[in-house]
Parts: sequence; C-alpha cells; structure tokens
Amino acid sequence: MIPSVLPTYNRAALTFVKGEGSWLIEADGRRFLDLGAGIAVNALGHAHPALVKALTDQGQALWHTSNLYHIPQQQALADKLVENSFADTVFFTNSGTEACELAVKMARKHFHDAGQPERVEILTFEGAFHGRSSAGIAAAGSEKMTKGFGPLLPGFRKLPWGDHDAVAGAITDKTAAILVEPVLGEGGIRPLPDQCLKGLRDLCDAHGMLMILDEVQCGMGRTGKLFAHEWAGVDPDIMMVAKGIGGGFPLGAVLATEHAASGMGAGTHGSTYGGNPLACAVGCAVMDIVADPEFLAQVNRTAGLLRQRLEGLVADHPEVFDSVRGSGLMLGLKCKAANTDVVAAAYQAELITVPAADNVIRLLPPLNISEEEIAEAITRLDTAARQVETAIQTETA
Ligand SMILES: *Cc1c(COP(=O)(O)O)cnc(C)c1O
Repeated sequence: MIPSVLPTYNRAALTFVKGEGSWLIEADGRRFLDLGAGIAVNALGHAHPALVKALTDQGQALWHTSNLYHIPQQQALADKLVENSFADTVFFTNSGTEACELAVKMARKHFHDAGQPERVEILTFEGAFHGRSSAGIAAAGSEKMTKGFGPLLPGFRKLPWGDHDAVAGAITDKTAAILVEPVLGEGGIRPLPDQCLKGLRDLCDAHGMLMILDEVQCGMGRTGKLFAHEWAGVDPDIMMVAKGIGGGFPLGAVLATEHAASGMGAGTHGSTYGGNPLACAVGCAVMDIVADPEFLAQVNRTAGLLRQRLEGLVADHPEVFDSVRGSGLMLGLKCKAANTDVVAAAYQAELITVPAADNVIRLLPPLNISEEEIAEAITRLDTAARQVETAIQTETA
C-alpha cells in the first residue's frame, strides 16, 4: 500500500523535533551537530532570535494579503537586494525551482520583445541542478531527473561542464542565454574557476546573450561573499536565489538587470504566495545580518579554519577521503569510500552531512557556526572516518 506521504524521498531514520543554533535535537534526545543546515537553507542556524522575532512580529500583524496590493516587507527586501547586488529589480518566489521558471521565461521574453523571437535556446551544463519543475529538469537534463517525465520542455542544450570551447562552438543565432551554477551543489561541490565564469561573461557580451546564474545554493553568503559570482568580478543579467535567503522560511527570488527584465510588464508573471509578508519579513532579517561585511568576514575566517581542519582529516584518513573542494562554507569531501557509508557513519557520530554526486559529502554548516563547533564537527567526522576504516578492514580481512 502506498504510504500516506508520497514516497519520493529516501529518508534517514531520524526525526528532529527541535533546533538550537548549529544543533538539531532528535526525538530520542540525541544532539546532532548540523553541517547540512537543511541543504544550505538554515543560513543562520536554528531558531535564530532575530529571525524568530521577525516571524512572530509579522505573524501577529498580518500573514498574507495578495500581490494585488502593495506589500511593504516585499518592497523593503527588494530594496535591500538591489542595494547589495548587480540587480535593478527583483521578483519573489517560494522556491528555487520557481525562480528557475521565471529566469527561463524572462530570458525568452527579453528576446521576443527585442524582435528576436527565434532566440529561445539556453545553454546548460552536465552535472547541473536547477530544481524539479518541467523547466528545471529539462535545463539540468540528467536521466535520473527526466526519465519518464517527457515530453521535456524544449530549448535547452547541455554541454560539458567547464568546457569553454564547447560553449563557444554551441552558440547559434537561436541562443538566448547561458545558465550555470557558480558552484555546482548537487553536482558535487565543484566551483567553476573564476576564469571560466569570466569567459562565459565574455561570450555573453560578444553574442548579446544573457547570463543566468543559479545561486540558489551558493548565494546568500555561503561562499563568503554575498553572492558567489562576486569572487570572479563578473555580474550576471539574471540570477536565481532561494535556500538561504529565507533562513528556513520558504522564499526564493529572481534578481535581474533592467535590460534583462525589459519584457516583464504587468500581467506577464505572478505568484499567489511569492513575496508574502511573512516570508519577506524573515528575508529582511536574514539580509540585515548576512549582507553585513563584518558577518561575511567572519564567514571567511570560519571557512578557512574548517577547510584547514578538513585537509588534516583527509591526510589522517587516506582510505576514506580523497580531497577537499568547494568555496567558503560550501565545502565537499570527495570520498574514496562510498559517500553514503560516510554519511551514515557520521549519523552514528551524531553529525549531519549531505551526500552529493561524484561521491562527495557536503558540509554546509550554518554561516554563524562557532569555532568550537567546527572543532567538535572535526572530532565527530574523525570518529565517523574511523568507523568506515574499521568496516573496510573487516571486509578485506
Ligand atoms: C535546491 C536547488 C534548486 C531548487 O530549489 P527548490 O527550492 O528545491 O525548488 C535549484 N538550483 C540549485 C542550484 C539548488 O541547489
């Protein structure tokens, strides 16, 4: 019999009932150190006082009206995002995949209104993840996500990741945009080298194409800049944001330049919930903390410490780990043992990590994790690695 919850997830046997900062408390009382943060969502950990206050204050005042009316919290959050980024304008969604939908629609509408309606094709990359909507799965194009769900939304062309010549060779008079994650998340925590992102920007400029960046996972301070593309010194035309922006409240956004958004007038797009007062009140509280340069400086210090300690861990456990990769507090451990075994052993040690493609485990702690908690995480990862080593030795004996 089918379970009452549609069985699309492979869940671990864990039920968390409370969160405190970087810690999750299981129903049986065990305290897990959370280096998953709900897959980079709980950017400020659990139950952050400023976020709880923003949510409860707004909850007392007004939950929802409609985008038929002005929403001051939405206006305030849009202003903060515009002030702190390349963007001139923002549309709010409830998720990353909805942001992907709008990014694709916006790019196509831009060329339609510019008198080039044939420019509909969007270049994407192997290993990408852009969400589970019809546009999102077509854009990523992996068999795992698309098989059985055809016909797929047309107009995407998938290219080898990081291959500049392949991109240059794929551009035709039908190409509208390039869509890429500055740091692959689900695809295994692989940062696109700065010169690659610059190269893509140059191609976009040379051919009048739009650059769409998916910063759903790598944005909002995760890499130590407010947005990951800032490291490369290039700006996109359109950017998708979600996950960390709501700190745990469902919220996403599309940020765009006036040029890219030129086709999106009244009636061209909408959402019932997108940008509602509760979500945007929390989003403002997140932005006020994360966009502060001093906060980002602390993220970089913590990231440097975590990375250094992880390098030591790899050196100590060469049978389990291969290498450290990533950017800021979006770090991956490429494993030699099966990554799922390492994640399971970490659960035993009461530590949360998240598997990714390419046999990687992801470490995406709250951005405000303390140095003591980093040290504790390394101790627990070490315990997990020893357990995996013992299992390997028993197998080969
Ligand atoms: C999680 C994610 C998405 C999808 O976001 P949802 O909120 O799950 O719809 C899209 N792109 C990237 C890079 C992501 O990590």
